[in-house]
Amino acid sequence: MLFDDDPAMKETIVSVLVPVAVPRAYTYRVPAGVSVVPGTIVKVPLGPREVLGAVWDGEPDAGINSNKLKVISRVYETARPLDEELRRFIDWVANWTLSPPGMVLRMVLRSEEALEDEPPISGVRRRKGQMPERMTPARQKVLDVTENGVAWTKSSLAQAAGVSTSVIDGLLQQEVLESVALPAVAPSPAPQVEFAQTKLTPAQQVASDGLVASFGKGAAVSLIDGVTGSGKTEVYFEAIAEALRRGHQALVLLPEIALTEQFLRRFEKRFGVYPAEWHSEITPKKRGRVWRGVASGDVRVVIGARSALFLPFADLGLIIVDEEHDGAFKQDDRVPYNARDMSVVRGHLSRFPVVLASATPSVESRVNADLGRYQRFELPERASGAALPDLKAIDMRQNGPSRGRWIAPELFQAMKEAFADGAQSLLFLNRRGYAPLTLCRTCGHRFQCPHCSSWLVEHRFQKRLVCHHCGHNESVPKACPSCNTVDSLVACGPGVERIAEEVENLFPDARTLILSSDLPGGPERLRREMKIVEDGGADIVIGTQLVAKGHNFPKMRLVGVIDADLGLAHGDPRAAEKTFQLLAQVTGRAGRVTGGGKGFLQTYSPDHPVLKALMSQDRDAFYNAEIEARRATGLPPFGRLAALVISGPDKLATEGYARALARGAPNEAAVTLLGPAEAALAMIRGRYRFRLLLMAPRQFDLQAYIRQWLDNGPKATKGLRVQVDVDPQHF
Ligand code: ADP
Ligand code: ZN
Repeated sequence: MLFDDDPAMKETIVSVLVPVAVPRAYTYRVPAGVSVVPGTIVKVPLGPREVLGAVWDGEPDAGINSNKLKVISRVYETARPLDEELRRFIDWVANWTLSPPGMVLRMVLRSEEALEDEPPISGVRRRKGQMPERMTPARQKVLDVTENGVAWTKSSLAQAAGVSTSVIDGLLQQEVLESVALPAVAPSPAPQVEFAQTKLTPAQQVASDGLVASFGKGAAVSLIDGVTGSGKTEVYFEAIAEALRRGHQALVLLPEIALTEQFLRRFEKRFGVYPAEWHSEITPKKRGRVWRGVASGDVRVVIGARSALFLPFADLGLIIVDEEHDGAFKQDDRVPYNARDMSVVRGHLSRFPVVLASATPSVESRVNADLGRYQRFELPERASGAALPDLKAIDMRQNGPSRGRWIAPELFQAMKEAFADGAQSLLFLNRRGYAPLTLCRTCGHRFQCPHCSSWLVEHRFQKRLVCHHCGHNESVPKACPSCNTVDSLVACGPGVERIAEEVENLFPDARTLILSSDLPGGPERLRREMKIVEDGGADIVIGTQLVAKGHNFPKMRLVGVIDADLGLAHGDPRAAEKTFQLLAQVTGRAGRVTGGGKGFLQTYSPDHPVLKALMSQDRDAFYNAEIEARRATGLPPFGRLAALVISGPDKLATEGYARALARGAPNEAAVTLLGPAEAALAMIRGRYRFRLLLMAPRQFDLQAYIRQWLDNGPKATKGLRVQVDVDPQHF
């Protein structure tokens, strides 16, 4: 065969990574006369479809008969190739999460639209020296506006001149105006580094100087560990300013899109322009623009949800992860990754600083700071000088709810005082809807989701019973479906809607507002309402965990936690940490600017260590105890964990397969295997779920172990699926 000696042939075969769940890149032929490099974005045939892909590194599989190879069908010449750093990051994430690299690439190549520049839009411009045959007042107005030679779209010119577009058409016909092509997207205005710097407090200044000094020294992770309201945002703004000064782009990750609105305004105050936003709620068109702007380097700062980490930055030089402890940074399905941890990896691979900020850092980050792996900057006081809120437990064993009342008298009294003073109160309950459980008082029938092992939750506003896991919903029946008794259904326990009802009865004159992610009106409404609260347009706010995330409500003075025990009921070893974080964050909304903040925690276990630690404001004591407990039991970050969730449509088959898998686990003294046991949610969307948990020492290569295990273990068939979750949130 002459094949090997034919240099032209060799050159035209490349690896292409396609965004599907296959273990490696495929081999394709490059059409004659076309040149590609690693990272070039292409379109290729895959089975009956065509998919996007990227030319990948590494030798293509030479053993394949080149005549049978499919040919790249399109090369996106104007799209910037994915650079080396991003490609290594994709490979790294795939390797760490045990996901097919194509699935990670899919988070980068999100839409085809993003790859093509928008076609230019047509505009008009004055032609020098040409005058209309006959001058009219309308024509004169157009000539005045276009005098300086600037190009306009027809409609904007008509508006500016105060004439109809037919006047413009007439002038075009007479060649007084000429058609020109305008770029579809105006370049983004650059942030102004010295626009309006805040005068920092001494503690902020130390932190800011420290962050600025960490540039240009390769990878460096810093933890800003500052109490609620300590001005962490102001501090990391100075890190952003430094990244910009050095000509780099910066990325800020936030856990909650309802937070971005306030953040955008704060950013504008500091830098004179708005940053680009990136999250699931922005329109496809805008997404495309941000994607291209990030790739071309036109967009300098992005503020986004976790998926922004996979944008193709031209020159990223800083990542900030705000509220770094937040569970929302973890994606649970498809590629299960934690954006906080992967940000650290991204900074490491590309040798730039990463900043983690929180008032309640994760135990992992605290330990990393304790061990000197991260630099730590502490902000022990609020920037406004206001004291942290006074916290008090209300013992519900003595104040237990009487019929339909969930707000204890002491909390009610404090709310009354706040209202009389014109200050805001916040009632926090981490339960959406009206009541967590609906049952028939005649026969005891409970409403369960037909697809999940969970109760349906009554939502009064929507007048429906809703499953919070799969979205299934049904109308509230007039009669019990089991015993047919009419009007026998009762709501058990409170959700935020029910608390709002109680508040409306107790405070008929107060302006009340529910902040919950699932109310009609969606994110738009939520953003509006957040702003109303911020501006003082509501007196009493009732909210779910959404309100615990970093918001700055200047008039908020009182926070009441309806059920402080809610998170502690979980058997999960992380429950203490999560509850501590949530309650410290939500009570931290009180008195941030004015001081005099108060927090009340309604509880049946006022002596619980988490509540005691909160009440005494002794964060260090809490963390030290929690860290010691993790160390003693070998839990993260002292040991490593991975979970395998085995799911399938048939319960017996799923459990049988999980057992077979467990039996086939390679013998390895370092690994402790627990389970299979039913997952915390034993069924979701009609699929039964069993879970295996693996524990190993910190240095152990758990990924290699799992890979070997799954490659040699019994194969999943008949709709069975194994999802690996390295570093699971819940253990
Ligand atoms: P954190 O993110 O640490 O909870 P923020 O950054 O939201 O705190 O700041 C809390 C409040 O203090 C905000 O209203 C902010 O504008 C204000 N603030 C922060 N730093 C300063 C400063 N140096 N001088 C005056 N006000 C400040
Ligand atoms: Zn369901």
